[in-house]
Amino acid sequence: MPSSSRPFTDPLLRWYERHGRHGLPWRATERSPYELLIAEVLLQRTTAAAVSGAYVPFVTRYPTPEAVVAAPSDEIEDRIAPLGLSKRAGFIERCSGQLLARHSGKIPRCRYELAELHGVGAYTARSVAVHAFGEDVSAVDTNVRRLISRFFGLECDSDAIAVLADEIAPSDRSSDFLYAMLDFAADVCTSRNPECGDCPLGDDCVSTGLASDNAD
Ligand code: SF4
Repeated sequence: MPSSSRPFTDPLLRWYERHGRHGLPWRATERSPYELLIAEVLLQRTTAAAVSGAYVPFVTRYPTPEAVVAAPSDEIEDRIAPLGLSKRAGFIERCSGQLLARHSGKIPRCRYELAELHGVGAYTARSVAVHAFGEDVSAVDTNVRRLISRFFGLECDSDAIAVLADEIAPSDRSSDFLYAMLDFAADVCTSRNPECGDCPLGDDCVSTGLASDNAD
């Protein structure tokens, strides 16, 4: 991690310790790599609030790829349907079958192998690599992109954002760092009304004082 990124990472991690969404069930420390993979698949284009109520019952009933493959398809779909995520049931079934066939039921540590699983794109693969295995990279969604672009003064569509996000991920806290960026972008550095006046990153942020933003 470059020392020049510390004005971003250090206050962000301190903010996360106090204000992060630590109660989300997939952030519990005992979650297995498979349970973390399931969380990331369910969270694709879906809010944490929508997923959180169904997550624990789902991974309790299907804690392994073996349990998914052994279950009737309509049972899995019924459990996900109330979230409006019926298609995700098929993703999880096919992904679980691939894990058994290719990886003896284990989650691969390599994010490139993860990205080859059904329903797992590059973003999800990176998220799993970070949260399950502590790989010191990041995963950049729209919100994280906005936060980094504002703080460092980069164009929002710049390829440099993803490169920088990887470079500044702390090697010993990459999971906390990624969750911190997600939470901070959702709660403080929001799209329309960033709270620059109270922002703990404000002293070093290139865009401090934003009243509104249409960058995304
Ligand atoms: S000062 Fe404003 S633009 Fe900069 S990180 Fe904080 S909330 Fe976002």
